[in-house]
Amino acid sequence: MKYYSTNKKAPLASLKRAVIKGLAGDKGLYMPENIDLMKDFVIGEMKNMTFQEISCVIARALFGDDVDGDTLDRIVKDTISFDAPIVHLHDNIYCLELFHGPTMAFKDVGARFMARLLAYFIDKEGVKDVNVLVATSGDTGSAVANGFLGMEGINVYVLYPKGKVSAIQECQFATLGRNITTLEIDGTFDDCQAIVKAAFMDEEMNEHSKLTSANSINVARFLPQSFYYFYAYAQLDKIGKADNLVISVPSGNFGNLAAGLFAHWMGLPVKRFIAANNRNDVFLDYLRTGRYKSRPSVSTLANAMDVGDPSNFARITDLFSIYPNPYAAILKRISGYSYTDEVIAATMRQVYRRYGYVLDPHGACGYEALSEERQAYELAKIETGLFLETAHPAKFKASVDTILGVNLDVPDKLRSFMEGEKQSISLSRDFEGFKRYFLSR
Ligand SMILES: *Cc1c(COP(=O)(O)O)cnc(C)c1O
Repeated sequence: MKYYSTNKKAPLASLKRAVIKGLAGDKGLYMPENIDLMKDFVIGEMKNMTFQEISCVIARALFGDDVDGDTLDRIVKDTISFDAPIVHLHDNIYCLELFHGPTMAFKDVGARFMARLLAYFIDKEGVKDVNVLVATSGDTGSAVANGFLGMEGINVYVLYPKGKVSAIQECQFATLGRNITTLEIDGTFDDCQAIVKAAFMDEEMNEHSKLTSANSINVARFLPQSFYYFYAYAQLDKIGKADNLVISVPSGNFGNLAAGLFAHWMGLPVKRFIAANNRNDVFLDYLRTGRYKSRPSVSTLANAMDVGDPSNFARITDLFSIYPNPYAAILKRISGYSYTDEVIAATMRQVYRRYGYVLDPHGACGYEALSEERQAYELAKIETGLFLETAHPAKFKASVDTILGVNLDVPDKLRSFMEGEKQSISLSRDFEGFKRYFLSR
């Protein structure tokens, strides 16, 4: 299968090239050229399959032309080594817990898959020393660093904004060492992202070494996220609740939602998606006005969604470009909501008090969007609402404890990270400083 760029000005690329390059030469995002529709009976069978088994089926549909089946199965089994249970909260509202992986956030799925696929290509081609650059507002760094830890021939550079990630998040990537270098940038997440983007465009750096991105612009990170949409559907199907399914996705860079749209495009019967945002809501503005305008990001309780210019917006518009009126088609398929920190906190308190369930600030946006839609439309009452809980609440222990007045247990998985020593290198937010540092390595 070939991959085209959303800007349509770069040549088609193989999967290997798309994964190793990350971003296309015309700065567009890679998209698979043609994907097989899953047959209804195959989707229907999934209710009798495990998360791993379903993921193997989808992985073969997505990547089977380029990677042999046994290798794909092995990569999937290494990646999906945890469960994603569905919890019934109340009425027709369900929660898909995507935080049972090693770093306790949904990004583990894409990061682990990408690490293993990249390692496979490097090994097969005898490529030496690929450098993975990743900008993070918290969760991407931990998932990517842990996904790639100890992999031969891959050096990971995590850039993160000083003082703007939670203590637990920082421990999850800054203490690892080995092939993981962490750079603490005196600036914001946008500054980190700008440095990474400038690096990809810098000729000298690209001549010096192979650079790729493990942000969700990389197809190997974003596409595997479609696995759990199929699994969620199958679990609801098993209990007879899969009709009229509406899925609410806490969104920042929109990789997760784009993967859901992809699953739908492959034939998964989802009636509608909801893009749930914090105050960084340029996508909601787009839904309201038909115009897309990026803004600088602002800090919120749900920091993994503090994104002012979501990269995967390009993928969403590209997916809908086959319609005569793409904007109208998007409005039919996706609705949007945005929440302030005050509403996020109030939602967390309400859900905890009424249902005894502890939401993290990201999941709270997803839940609230679903529940607001349910109150606004009579029709929503016959739909099944599913929101994705994208991180374990203990990753945001300080905020969650204060908001709920509790003392959350920190799972062993997270606690073990906190015993390591921080090994970050401090850099200013200018690109030249980073470049000097990188070239001197
Ligand atoms: C990354 C992240 C999001 C946003 O996902 P996108 O794919 O960037 O839209 C939401 N919640 C959590 C906890 C995250 O780590």
